Amino acid sequence: MDRLFDLLVVGGGPAGLATAHAAARAGASVLLLHRDARIGLPIRTSGGSWLFHLRQLGIPDHLHHPIRSATFASPNVQATTRFVTDDYAVALDVTKTYEYLAGLATDAGAEVLTGSRFVRTEQLADESFRSIYSQGTREFTVRARFIVDASGSARAVTAPLGLQPRPTRYGVGAEYEYENLSPDLHHCLLLVGSQYFPAGYGWALPGPDGRIRVGVGVLQPDTKARPQPMLDDFMASELPRKLGLVTGRLIEKHFGVLPSETPNERAVFGRIVCVGDTAMQALPLIGEGIRYCIEAGRVAGAAIASAAREPDAAATHLATYERWWRKRYGYEFWLAWKMNVRIASFNDQQWDMVAKVMQGLSPSSIARGLRSEIRPLELASFAFRRPKLALTFGRALLGGALSR
Ligand SMILES: Cc1cc2nc3c(=O)[nH]c(=O)nc-3n(C[C@H](O)[C@H](O)[C@H](O)COP(=O)(O)OP(=O)(O)OC[C@H]3O[C@@H](n4cnc5c(N)ncnc54)[C@H](O)[C@@H]3O)c2cc1C
Repeated sequence: MDRLFDLLVVGGGPAGLATAHAAARAGASVLLLHRDARIGLPIRTSGGSWLFHLRQLGIPDHLHHPIRSATFASPNVQATTRFVTDDYAVALDVTKTYEYLAGLATDAGAEVLTGSRFVRTEQLADESFRSIYSQGTREFTVRARFIVDASGSARAVTAPLGLQPRPTRYGVGAEYEYENLSPDLHHCLLLVGSQYFPAGYGWALPGPDGRIRVGVGVLQPDTKARPQPMLDDFMASELPRKLGLVTGRLIEKHFGVLPSETPNERAVFGRIVCVGDTAMQALPLIGEGIRYCIEAGRVAGAAIASAAREPDAAATHLATYERWWRKRYGYEFWLAWKMNVRIASFNDQQWDMVAKVMQGLSPSSIARGLRSEIRPLELASFAFRRPKLALTFGRALLGGALSR
C-alpha cells in the first residue's frame, strides 16, 4: 500500500520548507521531497534581505550579517547611503537559514526526504494524488490529498500537467564568494551601467564569516550576455580596486535562475498549490524572493491544513491563500514588474539619473524603494524639492504604467 499524506511538498527551498512547517504545525501529515542531497546546498541565491522583515518572520539574528551602508554606483555618479534605523539590509547565511527552516518543519512532524526527485503525479478518483519520485535509479510511489509545487523555476508538478507554462524570461546570475579583505565588512555595492557590465547589474554583498559575494545578473532572453564571463572580466579588471573592493581567496561559486515574468494571476489549481518562485513570488524589481517565499509558505501551509481537515470546503480554504497574496503584495509586485521591464533597457545616462535621485532620498526611502513600497507622500515631497529630476525619473521608470 502506498503511504497516504495530507500534503506532498515538492522542493526544499524556503517556500517548500516554510509550507511544510506551517502545514505540519497545524496538524497535517506532510512529506517533502527535495532533489538535492542536502538542504541549502548548492547555493543558488545571494541571500540579501531586510532585518525588520526577517525578525517579523522569526528568523534568528545569528543567521544573517548586517549591511550598514550601501553605494549605488552608476557610470558617473555614486550615491552612498548609511542605514541609521533598524530598517537595514542583511545578508543571510543561506545554507544555515534553509537548514533552520528544515529543522522547524521536521520538529513540527513533517518528513523531509533529500536526494528525492519528484517525477510525476496523477489524480485518482477520490481526488488524491498518486505520485512517483526517484532516489538514484529506484522509484517509489506515495499518495497525498494535496500537492504543493515549490520546485522553483523547474515547476516540476505544474508544468508537465499543463497548469502553468515553463517561464520564458529568466534572471540568470553568477556569483563568487571570496574572503572579504575590504576595510568595511558591512558595506555593499550595487553596480549598474556599461562601465561595469555590458548588460544587467552587479553587486558586492558582504556576508557572515568574513566573506563577500560578488555577482552579476542578467535578464535572458532580453540580452544574450552570459553573467559568468562578465563577472570574470570584472574581477580581472582594475574596477574592484577602484571601488574599494578587496577580496582574498575564492571560496565558492554560486549560479541561479529566477523566473522573471508578469506576476501570476493564479497560485491554486484545484488541489495543487504553487508557492515561491513557482508562483512568481520573488519581487521582480531586484529579484528578492526569500522572505516573500517564507511568508507565502506559512499562509499556504495553514490554508492547506484547514483544507485537509475540511475537504468539502477545500476550495474555500485554499482561496484564502490566493486572496491574501493578491491583497498583501499584488500592488507592490505589479509596480515592481512595471519598473523591471523599464530598467531592463536603461542606458548609462538613465542609470546616472537613478543615482542622482538616490542622492536626494533618505535611507529609509531608498530601502522602501528597493522593496517597491513606494508611498505617494514621499513621491510628492521629492517632486516638490527636485521637480525637474522627479519628472524625468518618473517618466523613465514608470512610463505609462500608472495610467493603466
Ligand atoms: C542569482 C540570484 C540571486 C538572488 N538573490 C536573492 C537575494 O539576494 N535575496 C532574495 O531574497 N532572493 C534572491 N533571489 C531569489 C530567491 O533565491 C528565490 O526567490 C527563492 O530561492 C525561491 O525559493 P523557492 O523555495 O520558491 O525555490 P528554490 O529556492 O529554487 O527551491 C526549489 C527547490 O526545489 C528543488 N526541486 C526542483 N525540482 C525538483 C523535483 N523534481 N523534485 C524535488 N525537488 C525539486 C530544487 O532543487 C530547489 O532546491 C535570487 C535568485 C537568483 C537566481
